[in-house]
Amino acid sequence: MKQNDTFFLAFFVVIAVLGFAGGLFFRLNNNVKLRKRLLPQYHIGLAVLVALFILIAVASGKSLSLLIVIPILPLITWSNLRNSSICEKCGKFNYTYLYFVKAEYCGKCGAKLQP
Ligand SMILES: [Zn+2]
Repeated sequence: MKQNDTFFLAFFVVIAVLGFAGGLFFRLNNNVKLRKRLLPQYHIGLAVLVALFILIAVASGKSLSLLIVIPILPLITWSNLRNSSICEKCGKFNYTYLYFVKAEYCGKCGAKLQP
C-alpha cells in the first residue's frame, strides 16, 4: 500500500468512526440538553477536521484538487446546523433533507422545534 493510500484510508476511517459514533450519540443518548449543546460543536468540529485533513494533504503534495472542497465545507456545515435539531419534548434527533425548508415540528411527537 502506498503512503498516499494509507493517508486517505486513515482519513476515511477517522471520519467514518466519528460520523458513526456521533450518529449513535445524537440518536441514543437520553440527555437532551447535552445533545442540544454538543450538536453545533460536533458539526463544526467535523468540518474543521475535514479541512485539516485536506490542508495536510495539499501541504504534503498528495492532492491539490482537494482544495475545491474547502469553500464548500462552510456551506455543508451551515446546512447541517440548519437542518438538524433535537426535540426538547421527546428527545428525537430530527434531520430534514429539504435543503431550503427548515423543519419546524418534531417528526415523532409533533412539538414545535426550538432553534
Ligand atoms: Zn418530539
